[in-house]
Amino acid sequence: MTNDDRPPRPAPAAPAAVRLERLTKTFDGGVRAVDGVDLEVGEGEFFALLGPSGSGKTTVLRMIAGFEAPTSGRVLLGGTDVTRLPSFDRDVNTVFQDYALFPHMTVAQNVGYGLMVRRVPRAERARRVRAALAGVRLEGFEPRRPSQLSGGQRQRVALARALVNRPKVLLLDEPLGALDLKLRHDVQLELKQLQREVGITFVLVTHDQEEALTMSDRLAVVNAGRIEQVGSPAEVYERPATAFVAGFVGTSNLLDGPVAEQVVGEAGPFSIRPEKIRLTRPDDPVTPDELSTTGRVADVLYAGGHTRFLIDLEAGGRLTAVRQNAEDGAAAVLRHSGTDVVLAWQRRHMVRVAE
Ligand code: ADP
Ligand code: MG
Repeated sequence: MTNDDRPPRPAPAAPAAVRLERLTKTFDGGVRAVDGVDLEVGEGEFFALLGPSGSGKTTVLRMIAGFEAPTSGRVLLGGTDVTRLPSFDRDVNTVFQDYALFPHMTVAQNVGYGLMVRRVPRAERARRVRAALAGVRLEGFEPRRPSQLSGGQRQRVALARALVNRPKVLLLDEPLGALDLKLRHDVQLELKQLQREVGITFVLVTHDQEEALTMSDRLAVVNAGRIEQVGSPAEVYERPATAFVAGFVGTSNLLDGPVAEQVVGEAGPFSIRPEKIRLTRPDDPVTPDELSTTGRVADVLYAGGHTRFLIDLEAGGRLTAVRQNAEDGAAAVLRHSGTDVVLAWQRRHMVRVAE
C-alpha cells in the first residue's frame, strides 16, 4: 500500500465553543457549589443546564462568564484557556433572570450601551441597535423606557442587548423565569428560532425540565454540583442514567428492591415512564414481550388533555400511569378509581438506572 492509498486523515474537529475541565468551586464556608464538572458544548449548539435550585447552575455560568473564579479546573472558549481572563476579555454575554435593564435609559440606549462603552461611532451604533431590535421583533421600540414594556418585551430587550455585540456564546440564566406560563411558551419558541437564525452558541440554565427538553439540542442534568447525565432530550428522558435523572426529568417511576425482584425478576432500580404503562383489566391478555403486575387505582388526577393514575402495586410501592383523554370523557375516566387493574409495559421501555 502506497502513501496515496491511505484514507484521507479526518479534518480536526472544531474546538468546542465551551469546554469545562474538572471545574470546581468551593465558596468561603466550605460550600462546594460545583464539583469537578467536565463538559463540552459544540459550536452553534443550544445547550441547557438543568437542575434543581441550589445545584450549582448559576455558579457554572458565572465561571464561564468570568464573574467567578474557579477554585480549580479550567474554562476553555473556542479552544483557548480563558480561566484567568477577566470577563470583558471573554467573547461571551449573559442574560440574567431579572434582565438588569437600566430603568432611566431608553430601549435604544439600553441595547447600545455596550457599543457606546466600546466607543463604536454613533451612526454604526444606531444601525446595529436597529438590527438587534429587528432580530427580536421590537422594531420601532427605540424611544421607549423599560417601564413602558411588558415582561416579554423587556426580556427581548435584554436579549437584543446581549446579542448586539455578536458574542460567540450567549449565557442565559433562567431568562424566562419572570414570565407567566402562556407567555413563557411563546418566548420559548421565539428564543429557539432566534438561536437558529443567529447561529450563536446558547447555554441556557433552567430548573424547568419541560423548558430544557423543548428548547435544547442537548442538555446536562446537574445535581449537587455534579453532572449526572449529558445527552439529547430524548436520550435523557427515555434512557435516564440515574434514579435522580429519572425523577427530575419526568415523573419518578422506580421499581426497586423486593418489588423489582418480584415484578422484573432482577434487582433494580428500574425506571418506567408513565405513558409507557398500559392499564388493562385483570382478565385482558398481556403479550409475551410485556412485563406486567397487578395493582389498585389509588387516585385519579384529571388534567384536561390527559389523566394520571396513581396505582398501588400488590407487590408494594406505587407507580404512575398516564393516559391521553382522546376518547374517554372525564366521567368515564374517573370511574376507574378504586378498581383493580393490570399494568403492562414493553420490556424495552424499562431502563436500569444507577442509584
Ligand atoms: P443554582 O443556580 O443551581 O440554583 P447556585 O449556583 O446559585 O445554584 O448555588 C449553588 C450553591 O452555592 C448553593 O448552595 C448556594 O447557596 C451556594 N452559593 C452560591 N453563591 C454563593 C456565594 N457567593 N457564597 C456562598 N455560597 C454561594
Ligand atoms: Mg441559579
